[in-house]
Amino acid sequence: MAALDALAYAVDPDNGALAEASALNARYGNLDAPDVIAIAVEELFRDRIALVSSFGAESAVLLHLLSEVDPHVPVIFLDTGRLFAETLEYRTLLAGRFGLTDVRSVTPDPERLAANDPHRALWMTKPDLCCHIRKTEPLARALQGFDAWFTGRKRFQNSVRSGLNLFEADGERVKINPLANWSVSDLKDYTARYELPEHPLVSKGYPSIGCVPCTSRVQPGEDQRAGRWRGLEKTECGIHVPLEADGSGI
Ligand code: SF4
Repeated sequence: MAALDALAYAVDPDNGALAEASALNARYGNLDAPDVIAIAVEELFRDRIALVSSFGAESAVLLHLLSEVDPHVPVIFLDTGRLFAETLEYRTLLAGRFGLTDVRSVTPDPERLAANDPHRALWMTKPDLCCHIRKTEPLARALQGFDAWFTGRKRFQNSVRSGLNLFEADGERVKINPLANWSVSDLKDYTARYELPEHPLVSKGYPSIGCVPCTSRVQPGEDQRAGRWRGLEKTECGIHVPLEADGSGI
């Protein structure tokens, strides 16, 4: 891969992104988030990297960190067509506040929706298919042309993510998790230091925010993500599968 060529890393090219991620972890695995982002954007994957954001409850920190390095890096936003109006407004607010110049709102294929979800009720009967059509497929299209992408996942979020590395293989791409080792207090401190705007639904009882039909208020004492797909077996949207068997998605 080009990034490793640049670094003259002795990896087997036949191993592709898996070997690349492993080598990158060995070399950069202890860097802080700002340095990881800077190296990825300016050296490793220059003009070949994007950030994928839900513009949800914890999105502001990573978006702000990116804007401090390069506000022109593409930001992919999956507009499923079922999002809260507050999330769409928050996207506009953060993009303007941080000076992000390339926020790409990606939408589902209309023909796929017409064929599979004409009444917008697919989430009730086949939520995995609904997420696939509204999130996974559009993301796959949006990532074409990129060799790497940033996510906002953290180790503290669930047991599966407890071993999360900074760099992961994602098919032929490298997925980078700059906040992997951040704690809840790290996020709060950063948010306070830079006076980052909060998603308007957080103060109304939504610590994790997805689509309207699949997000409910969380009661005191409940898990942060208890309001996502409440009452269903489903706990993920599929974007990070198979890396996360229980994956919490975005
Ligand atoms: S979160 Fe719910 S409404 Fe949104 S894509 Fe997934 S199943 Fe569909």
